[in-house]
Amino acid sequence: MATEIDAARLLTMRAASMKDAGMKTTLESSMAKLYASEVAVRCANEGVQIHGGYGFIKDYPAEKYYRDVKLCTIGEGTSEIQRLVIARQLLKD
Ligand SMILES: Cc1cc2nc3c(=O)[nH]c(=O)nc-3n(C[C@H](O)[C@H](O)[C@H](O)COP(=O)(O)OP(=O)(O)OC[C@H]3O[C@@H](n4cnc5c(N)ncnc54)[C@H](O)[C@@H]3O)c2cc1C
Repeated sequence: MATEIDAARLLTMRAASMKDAGMKTTLESSMAKLYASEVAVRCANEGVQIHGGYGFIKDYPAEKYYRDVKLCTIGEGTSEIQRLVIARQLLKD
């Protein structure tokens, strides 16, 4: 999980620094958004699993993190649409 979170952070920082430099970031932004969203869902899912029953019940925040984070793969461009954007960018040349 730590390795995937670090990779997501690096993809995000790359897209942000390119944007700051005034570069086009369609490909890099989509890669960062897709990967970071899916890593967040995977990690929240593992968090629930690690905590077992306590991860499932509402007394603890693990289940809320899992529900909340799922929006990241749906809102502001779903994972499927990010994949379409990435593929179009890679195949356009
Ligand atoms: C809690 C919440 C808050 C939101 N807040 C906002 C907001 O503040 N502002 C805003 O603008 N929107 C907001 N949205 C809307 C959100 O951006 C949309 O849910 C999102 O764009 C997906 O659109 P849709 O729900 O109509 O799904 P659909 O477009 O009906 O897609 C359904 C599924 O089919 C897939 N799909 C669709 N087209 C393709 C394709 N061509 N190829 C492959 N797969 C495809 C999608 O990836 C998705 O998995 C919010 C949504 C939620 C749930």
